[in-house]
Amino acid sequence: MLLYNSATRKKEPLVPRQEGKITMYTCGPTVYHYAHIGNLRTYMMEDALEKYLCYEGYQVRRVMNITDVGHLASDADTGEDKMLKGARREHKSVLDIAKFYTDAFFADCAKLNIRRPQVVQPATGMIEEYIRVISRLLETGYAYLAGGNVYFDTSKLEHYNVFFQHEEEALAVGVRQGVEADASKRSQNDFVLWFTRSKFEDQALKWDSPWGVGYPGWHIECSCIAMKYCGEYLDLHCGGVDNAFPHHTNEIAQSEAYLGHPWCSHWMHVHHLNTSSGKMSKSKGEFLTLSLLEEKGYDPLAYRFFCLQSHYRKSLVFTWENLDNAAQAYQKLLERVAALQPGGQADMGEVERRREGFIAQVGNDLNTSMAVTALYDALKAKLDDATKLAVLDSFDQVLSLSLLERAARLRERQASAATETAEGFVIAGEGDAEIDRLVLQRCQAKAARDYAQADALRERLKEMGVQVTDTKEGAIWRRV
Ligand code: AMP
Ligand code: ZN
Repeated sequence: MLLYNSATRKKEPLVPRQEGKITMYTCGPTVYHYAHIGNLRTYMMEDALEKYLCYEGYQVRRVMNITDVGHLASDADTGEDKMLKGARREHKSVLDIAKFYTDAFFADCAKLNIRRPQVVQPATGMIEEYIRVISRLLETGYAYLAGGNVYFDTSKLEHYNVFFQHEEEALAVGVRQGVEADASKRSQNDFVLWFTRSKFEDQALKWDSPWGVGYPGWHIECSCIAMKYCGEYLDLHCGGVDNAFPHHTNEIAQSEAYLGHPWCSHWMHVHHLNTSSGKMSKSKGEFLTLSLLEEKGYDPLAYRFFCLQSHYRKSLVFTWENLDNAAQAYQKLLERVAALQPGGQADMGEVERRREGFIAQVGNDLNTSMAVTALYDALKAKLDDATKLAVLDSFDQVLSLSLLERAARLRERQASAATETAEGFVIAGEGDAEIDRLVLQRCQAKAARDYAQADALRERLKEMGVQVTDTKEGAIWRRV
């Protein structure tokens, strides 16, 4: 596939080191609060990418961390530990908070059909590994001890800012949040590998280390977890666009300094979900959760459908109106799928042709909106129902909109709402006596082999915005 690589700023073929296999690392959530629907957009796009690669035939090994320590309020190692903040807010222990929000995160993922990565590793489970890697960075002169903390020395690198020129912006963020600059750092870009002395004396989770009792910095977890489970070379690393700097930049710095060779070849960044008042953010406390969407009556998969219709490299504006439109379109889509009759032999040649077309389009930088278009094209095409269903089932391996299951459920509901008329015909619809009467007349015309009359009635219903589908169970009508 062609995938935009943030490291080279070009759309490039994704070429794994080992043929047919891809190692994929995705930065996981910081579990001090619920994930907001912006975070979930990122995970959904990464999920679509993983599924697309499987669809192309790759074996994907996907690894994700769970940040349960070390992520401070500012990504530049200043401010309070986010986990501690969460624990204080809820009068619970950091471990309780981590467990609760990790479970909540995966519950949200399940509702959105986001597949759980093959490996999920909490950051607190890898302390020995961080100590080993940090010791090596100190030995090789890439790290230094100052003011009780261990820092990575970015001046030792030829090329630190691999993604964008962010220094000034990072400084501006620090100033905006009113955080003091860390006087122990030799240069502004240096970052903490291990904290021992800090202003957070009440830090709940601490471990012994050669540099004193303390805890790891945020970035080291992703490098160590990725290297442990994917080896010295990584094919693909993903995250939200805010992760590019400083988090991913620092991951690259320390991993390559440790390994002594290039580490990850392809970087994919998902752009943000914004509200009309700006970026949705957990730390600002103003954010929408999936549960809130459900409370308001939205199907989580309608939100998935909404996200799939836009490209991951464009920021997406969330409004209730946009979500309403997506929810209605998703419902109509399900109704169209439900109107197809299962059973019969699909034309597998046609399914394969459409699969190839889908790959050609979606494989161009994960073009999920083209994937949705391909769905509608298949629905509109002059194909028999069995073939259409097989094509939709195939595309849904990537889209994960549960099209066939939901449609089957809808069909069942329609069938159970069906009534048998005095004349012995079974009719199901949306509860309108006048339309029921016309549909009954059409059933009678068909039974009497008066096809001209049956067609005329179908036309009349169509003009009224009603579509009739003849099924084994009876005639089902719906407004379109
Ligand atoms: P966090 O739990 O804050 O570490 O973030 C989890 C993931 O969500 C990271 O990959 C972030 O880059 C991403 N993210 C954060 N805010 C947004 C947003 N508004 N829209 C999309 N993704 C986001
Ligand atoms: Zn990470």
